[in-house]
Amino acid sequence: MSLSLTDVTLTYPDGDTRLTALDHVTLDVPKGTMTAVTGPSGSGKSSLLAVAATLITPDSGTVTVDGATTTGMNRGQLTDLRRHRIGIVFQQPNLLPALTAAEQLQVMAQIAGHQPAKARRRALDLLAVVGLADRADHRPHQLSGGQRQRVNIARALMNNPTVLLVDEPTSALDHDRGAAVIDLITHLTHRQATATVLVTHDRSHLTAVDHLAEIHDGRLQQATPPLRGRASTRSGEPTPLRTVDEGGCS
Ligand code: ADP
Ligand code: MG
Repeated sequence: MSLSLTDVTLTYPDGDTRLTALDHVTLDVPKGTMTAVTGPSGSGKSSLLAVAATLITPDSGTVTVDGATTTGMNRGQLTDLRRHRIGIVFQQPNLLPALTAAEQLQVMAQIAGHQPAKARRRALDLLAVVGLADRADHRPHQLSGGQRQRVNIARALMNNPTVLLVDEPTSALDHDRGAAVIDLITHLTHRQATATVLVTHDRSHLTAVDHLAEIHDGRLQQATPPLRGRASTRSGEPTPLRTVDEGGCS
């Protein structure tokens, strides 16, 4: 299993007591599949991703990335794991204003110690995959919200991670742009063979996920993916992807 959370409990200090953000959560995500996690605001979705990303150590339970259990790893080992194995897409793109789209990606490779020339080629390849071949030398202010989110996603894939963690990527986009971004993440999950967790409070886009889970008050439960668009497939098979909107996002 490429990403496993086993019996994870996470609490935060809350006045004199503690608030339980994750309550005995178990989640297994195989390589090349996407699990969507939905739930209301405050239910623990971002906390789940933060624990999976090894950014927060849970009170109890284990996180395993690519066969390696993170329990007992020191800070340097966790940083190394994040740089090479985990791609994170936060809600807001957080792109650096002074850098072009390609440079945003190249920085990630430099941090991980890859050769600049190779990094440039990979950055351009990935920007092409997300439909931004003609925007490689644009800076964030020259890109639309949807395009910035695509750069954000491409950046997370720069170091070829095993695990891709995506937090509410459509919250700043209209419905169609949001649907295109979810399609893109589904496509990349299969193409790059990542173990992907996509967190969203909006279920309307989730027609092609492999697994669906719901979280309420920190408790995670398996759920049945929505059936829309599945009519022509054999039961149990993911819905075929809609065509990725190549650069049509303005
Ligand atoms: P979601 O992403 O589903 O909106 P979160 O994981 O952000 O939920 O939050 C889950 C619960 O934990 C909420 O009640 C939130 O207020 C609380 N929480 C989140 N982060 C912290 C923190 N750093 N300190 C204290 N409480 C927090
Ligand atoms: Mg959140």
